Amino acid sequence: MQILHPFAGSIQHYLDEISDPDRYRPDHCPQCEATHPLTGHGFYRRTLVDAAFDGVLRVRRYLCRSCKRTVSLLPEFALPWLRFSISVIAMFLVARLLNGLTLVAAARAAAQAVMPYQRGQFWIRRFQKQAPALSLALVPLAVPGHPRDPAADFVSRTLRMLESSGWIPAHRFLFSQLRVHLLGWPACLFPTGRRTTLAFACPAP
Ligand SMILES: [Zn+2]
Repeated sequence: MQILHPFAGSIQHYLDEISDPDRYRPDHCPQCEATHPLTGHGFYRRTLVDAAFDGVLRVRRYLCRSCKRTVSLLPEFALPWLRFSISVIAMFLVARLLNGLTLVAAARAAAQAVMPYQRGQFWIRRFQKQAPALSLALVPLAVPGHPRDPAADFVSRTLRMLESSGWIPAHRFLFSQLRVHLLGWPACLFPTGRRTTLAFACPAP
């Protein structure tokens, strides 16, 4: 299964810190609840594109000696199954759906000078589909006293909620409490709402 790395900082900082297995070692198993620290179990590699980074990340894995299952610590700026970072996707969606920029201008606003048309369309479609569920799931994070516009459509309302709580804190909340994915789960993973064991067999779009 994947749990989010309790890590806040830049990608470079993450790359520097990941080599120490003790730094974020879980002190119990989140799957069988065994109460002993997990054993370092190497890394898996995944690609990530951020505004100033395009390359391979190591993701640390741990093994539970009781249930023999692994836990990986995905850094919270990365989304499960998507190659692009949360901030790139956020900048694109806000530019396109909230500020009304064209696809090309929105891609540029997200530091993606050359982006295939289909990729932006894919993010928009996924987000539009997910917006009603997200706007509901994000209610506990709403800033008290923050004006809410009941007339706004789900997409704008959700984008404003994400902007005011911060996309990464919102993702952390959605993922840990409700196992909700910002862009919805792909068909090859199960959107169960309980702790999900992620398979890595599906190709990253
Ligand atoms: Zn276990």
